[in-house]
Amino acid sequence: MKEVVVLGAGYAGLKTVVLLQKKLKTNVHITLVDRNNYHYEATDLHEAAAGTQSASRITYPISDVINPQITFIQDEVVKIDPDKKTVKLAGHEELLHYDYCVLGLGFVSETFGIPGAEENALPMTNVKEALAIYDHIIAKMKDYRTTHNPDDLQIVICGGGFTGIELAGALVDARASYAKIAGVSPDEIKITLIEASTRLLPMFSEKLAEYGVNLVKSLNVQLLDGSRISKIEPGKVIYKHGDDDEESLNAGTIIWTTGVSGNPLMEECGFDAKRGRVIVTDHLTDPKHDDIYIIGDVAAVMPPDGKRPYPTTAQIALAMADYTAEDIVSRIKTGKHEAKSFTYKSLGTVASVGNTRAFGEAMGHELRGYPASAMKKIIADRSLLETGGLKELFAKGRFDLYH
Ligand SMILES: Cc1cc2nc3c(=O)[nH]c(=O)nc-3n(C[C@H](O)[C@H](O)[C@H](O)COP(=O)(O)OP(=O)(O)OC[C@H]3O[C@@H](n4cnc5c(N)ncnc54)[C@H](O)[C@@H]3O)c2cc1C
Repeated sequence: MKEVVVLGAGYAGLKTVVLLQKKLKTNVHITLVDRNNYHYEATDLHEAAAGTQSASRITYPISDVINPQITFIQDEVVKIDPDKKTVKLAGHEELLHYDYCVLGLGFVSETFGIPGAEENALPMTNVKEALAIYDHIIAKMKDYRTTHNPDDLQIVICGGGFTGIELAGALVDARASYAKIAGVSPDEIKITLIEASTRLLPMFSEKLAEYGVNLVKSLNVQLLDGSRISKIEPGKVIYKHGDDDEESLNAGTIIWTTGVSGNPLMEECGFDAKRGRVIVTDHLTDPKHDDIYIIGDVAAVMPPDGKRPYPTTAQIALAMADYTAEDIVSRIKTGKHEAKSFTYKSLGTVASVGNTRAFGEAMGHELRGYPASAMKKIIADRSLLETGGLKELFAKGRFDLYH
């Protein structure tokens, strides 16, 4: 009996388990570990943060999609020992032993060492953090009724990348509800994006990125591009625009979306990782340990041109899960890796700007307006179906395609 231990029930880990349980009925025992007893759609976290979706709409219980033969352990992974082939969990004395281990421990917020960012800005990398952002915004709106301090109405997003833009769109959708709580008109709720670069959204063509930026600006979101954040103080963002003197912006809510890195456990456990990511082999294994698969946001996969790794996305995490499950099945059945190595072709990227606006590129076509918004929902539904099955698709899917 082979022991397969999968760490992390995100896009990469949970899909690996769902596929393995379909493909391998005997001779294997699978253990899945996650700190939560639910899976969350990380791509929808900005909506939970803004309050346009409830947490229950972007999560589902892990027990819904795994067979009773799978051992699920809700606990914190604290150490992986690749030489002894063991995993240590925070709340269990006994170590887990494996023949094959799959690491899918995801991403954490990256502050790039900017002073005060960790203490004074709110990260958005999991459901708890997203809900903390929402609670914070609501508390500030309520405060305004007694303080009448306009800073309480100011929401600043640090980082105008894909995540920052999507968050700004969701906040715009929620603006009227915030205004009602504060007792002001919606245009008094200020939303500002601060971004170091002047060429936003480099994953899109210049024209498409410009369309996205103009769309966000047309929704009364202030964009401070070319503005490098140097420090975050309580309720204050300090930044520098080009060679100008430092400026500052007061805000009741400061949200941090400048970027993410892979789970720091990768370095802590001695893997050859940079910013929590390991450059994996063609079979998605650790270069030094062929029995360890490293997938999702903790992996760096080099494209054939070998220049820069593919960007970490849910899309590539799901593709890695497909390959990993096939490769493990092949090794358990034949003792050999899959003949083919992992290859990846992106199907495109679509950014939402609220529930009914989007832009992006899919299968070689640039999309704007309604088709882009419908495509964004279809992509989310497909991911739900692939891992959660019909049950989760019908319970949590996006079917409001007509608007
Ligand atoms: C707001 C936002 C929008 C995004 N939009 C898109 C998009 O449109 N398209 C796209 O392709 N990608 C998008 N992404 C990126 C995408 O969400 C990530 O690339 C993806 O979640 C990575 O999947 P993963 O399985 O590697 O990790 P995750 O989804 O982060 O899952 C990691 C899992 O590991 C668990 N875990 C972590 N550490 C431990 C530990 N020590 N012990 C136990 N459990 C642990 C976590 O609880 C979690 O369940 C977006 C991200 C954000 C934040």
